[in-house]
Amino acid sequence: MDEVIIVGAGIGGLTLGLALEQAKIPCRIFESVPEIRAIGVGINLLPHATRELAALGLEDALSKVAIQTTDATFFNRFGQLIYQEPLGRAAGYDHPQFSIHRGDLQMVLLEAFRSRAGHDRIVTNRHCLGVEQDDRGVTVTFSDGPGGASRFTVRGRVVIACDGINSAIRKQFFPDEGEPRYSGVNMWRGVTRWKPMLSGASMVRAGWLSHGKMVIYPIRAADRDGLQLINWVAEIETPNYRKRDWNRAGSLNDFIGPFSDWHFDWCDVPAFIRAADSVLEFPMVDQDPLPRWSFGLTTLLGDAAHPMVPRGSNGAGQAILDARVLTAALLEHADPAAALAAYEKQRLEATTRIVLTNRTNPPDAILREVFERTRDKPFNAIDEIISRDELVALSEGYKRIAGYSKDALHR
Ligand SMILES: Cc1cc2nc3c(=O)[nH]c(=O)nc-3n(C[C@H](O)[C@H](O)[C@H](O)COP(=O)(O)OP(=O)(O)OC[C@H]3O[C@@H](n4cnc5c(N)ncnc54)[C@H](O)[C@@H]3O)c2cc1C
Repeated sequence: MDEVIIVGAGIGGLTLGLALEQAKIPCRIFESVPEIRAIGVGINLLPHATRELAALGLEDALSKVAIQTTDATFFNRFGQLIYQEPLGRAAGYDHPQFSIHRGDLQMVLLEAFRSRAGHDRIVTNRHCLGVEQDDRGVTVTFSDGPGGASRFTVRGRVVIACDGINSAIRKQFFPDEGEPRYSGVNMWRGVTRWKPMLSGASMVRAGWLSHGKMVIYPIRAADRDGLQLINWVAEIETPNYRKRDWNRAGSLNDFIGPFSDWHFDWCDVPAFIRAADSVLEFPMVDQDPLPRWSFGLTTLLGDAAHPMVPRGSNGAGQAILDARVLTAALLEHADPAAALAAYEKQRLEATTRIVLTNRTNPPDAILREVFERTRDKPFNAIDEIISRDELVALSEGYKRIAGYSKDALHR
């Protein structure tokens, strides 16, 4: 009864479980799927998030499965270099930037939680249907997986909805919100075993959304054949889209056209895409920021609270930051409702700014600037198009808004 109930064992739910466990606050996680499997493709963790994971004692475990990303490199669609800057430790941060398979990240968090808190602290096949609350706590109702006929209720002190972009608890409190908002950009994602590109730890962004943009970065170290597992995302403005499903298969012919002449010295992009293990398709969506997350003894965290378009490498990181702030608030306030309100106060405005900036001025605004100024033509010299100072300002502006400028982290 004194437990914190966490709904969802994704990146946010597991991190919260670990943070609460470290703070000696009893909790239990309830997850919809019958078995947690390493699903997804690549995710990036920026230094503000890896700092929190290091504080949970996970940096070594993550280093073994992730790539420490060293640079961000931007090209136009003709393969001309626009801008390059160091990232993570290479940029002087105290903590690395990790590029990692989402499944590897989830497994590191899951194993740590199970071994520290105990296997019985996580219950699978429990799909949350809703929550009721009274003066003394919450009653959360679950079915045996999505659409399951059986019903189970669990009592707890508070409930934290970490159930992702289609959160059942978010829908309960905001029944008229509607489906996630489509950005007008569709994404095709995959992983390819390929020889290392550029520094071997580069995060590449190339092209622009109207004519086809690619994001490419390695997520696992080279195997015995010298090949890395390299994540890629093709992003193209597309009027129509199908509802987001993390596992929907995509078709090469729907998106490879705009990249068919991308034969660069650092990568033959069409050959690289064709060699993918598989292709997934999903629309780039988010939701308008909410006016509040906390309702008495219930609150939202991670994508359930602030789903954002993945243009700033910040979705997982912001869920991780939420977990730290919420844990600190629960430690600080004896009254749990006051703790949830304090957490919302500290996080809602900050994440609202990121959700909105990801729509308009994420790091790839650099590509948009060059695309517009050159009218999508090759350039002679980049500094005739845009100065180094402007490029740095675009990049640093996003870091400040997303909370990972070096100054802010050192402070
Ligand atoms: C299967 C899957 C694959 C993904 N792949 C990628 C990827 O490749 N790249 C990327 O950048 N991001 C991916 N994401 C999203 C990414 O994990 C999140 O944007 C980010 O990490 C924030 O994490 P979160 O914990 O808030 O949400 P999520 O990581 O989405 O976790 C939500 C969790 O809640 C569970 N859940 C959902 N509904 C219920 C319910 N009613 N009751 C109980 N549990 C519920 C889900 O099964 C999931 O485990 C993926 C998410 C999922 C669920």
